Amino acid sequence: MATLNPRQIIDVLRKLQAIDDEIRDVRETRNGMVSNLEKLETVLEMREGQLGEMREKLSEAESWHRKKTAELEDEREKLNRAKAKLNTVTRSKEYVAVNRELDNVRKNIQNREDEVEKLTLAIEDFRNTIEREDEKVKDLRAAAEAEAANNRGALDEMDGKIGEVEKRRNEIAAGVERNILRRYKKVFDARDGVGVVAVVDDSCGGCNMVVQPRFIEAILRGSSLVQCPFCSRFLYMDTVMDEDGNPVIGSPATVAAAAAAE
Ligand SMILES: [Zn+2]
Repeated sequence: MATLNPRQIIDVLRKLQAIDDEIRDVRETRNGMVSNLEKLETVLEMREGQLGEMREKLSEAESWHRKKTAELEDEREKLNRAKAKLNTVTRSKEYVAVNRELDNVRKNIQNREDEVEKLTLAIEDFRNTIEREDEKVKDLRAAAEAEAANNRGALDEMDGKIGEVEKRRNEIAAGVERNILRRYKKVFDARDGVGVVAVVDDSCGGCNMVVQPRFIEAILRGSSLVQCPFCSRFLYMDTVMDEDGNPVIGSPATVAAAAAAE
């Protein structure tokens, strides 16, 4: 590896920063897409789980309904037996007793009929609720599958793009010393993914602190690799030409520093 001068190093770092911005953008879009799909899936699983619980409750209610209906049938048979008995009764004392029993059974039947009717209505209601929820969940499931199918192509494309950009990054990174890469990575990670910034109006484009003239001079001369003393980001300056084709950079102070650097 040829040893690079500071100007060449900062050029490489700027390229890396541009590539890292690109990768980050694609990753963010990709992760956003994936996390939307995951959220949708979570909601669906929750609703499907709830639907399962509702069905279980329905089946419990149905078996309770069957039990109550059978008890009602028993009571009706009791009524028939009591009625038959009444026809065979000859003594008045016994007649009164059987009649009282008939009344009790009738009351019982009435109560049980009310109970079973209420239960029937509640079950009917619950069944309708479940059916509606089932349809909603089915629609949601279909929408989620369509979304996943739509996104599959885009995700593959983004994965391909990330791979391609990473390959380009490796090629560029191979041209610069490892310890420089490590420094760049450290700043990049510590400063929200911005490790290289321009000096703007004599200030660091990252943290806005004023950059001292001696640093500006060093950047202009390309005599050393300059990191902002406050935020550690690597600094560069864009060279702008005046009408005579001479480099003009930033404020008068910068221009003076540039002149001093000549
Ligand atoms: Zn700074």
